Amino acid sequence: MSSRLILATRNQGKILELRRILDQLSDGAIELVSVDQYPDIPDVDETGLTFEENSLLKARAICKATGLPSLADDSGLCVDALGGAPGIFSARYAGTHGDDEANLNKVLEQLKNMTDENRRAHFTCVTALVMPDGQEVTEEGLFHGHITHAPMGENGFGYDPIFIPTGSTVTSAQMSAEEKDLVSHRGKSLRAIAPQVIALMKGLG
Ligand code: IMP
Repeated sequence: MSSRLILATRNQGKILELRRILDQLSDGAIELVSVDQYPDIPDVDETGLTFEENSLLKARAICKATGLPSLADDSGLCVDALGGAPGIFSARYAGTHGDDEANLNKVLEQLKNMTDENRRAHFTCVTALVMPDGQEVTEEGLFHGHITHAPMGENGFGYDPIFIPTGSTVTSAQMSAEEKDLVSHRGKSLRAIAPQVIALMKGLG
């Protein structure tokens, strides 16, 4: 099998989780290469209106630039009381792209007078695979929970310190990597897409 798959993201938190989950699901048969190894490829403008559109935009652009199968993840936090915000703008909610601390503080500030019932939220992740012959697959995963009153925990990335998964007493930043992968939006989306990734890549071999 032609086994190189480009991970179409420069977000180190995502890369760590994508590698961890995909390595396990593919039994190491797929060589995962981050787009970081292609410094000349410009960042993709996320001009889509949905997680699926943005995920496909990223995977298509990286597949076109490298000529290799590409897998993208578009994800974010959706808070019910904020009408689904930050949503597709999660990475740059407080203005600067990737400023996790400012982003989560903005959510805490906006929810500061809200009771626990009004702090419901979920993460969404849509992974998209684009093959050099134009075949495309997307899969969505959801992760339900609620927002804390203060950040807790050092693991994970992004909004993990303020997100308590349904059925848990700790934030996703207090879970181990394995615990988070089992229940997370990214884990669910990747477990759904992995068999299709493996089948399509076998077809290339
Ligand atoms: P994207 O790169 O446009 O898909 O933005 C994803 C953003 O959503 C990240 O920068 C985080 O702020 C947030 N996010 C996505 N997945 C997670 C997660 O598993 N934990 C915490 N935050 C996440």
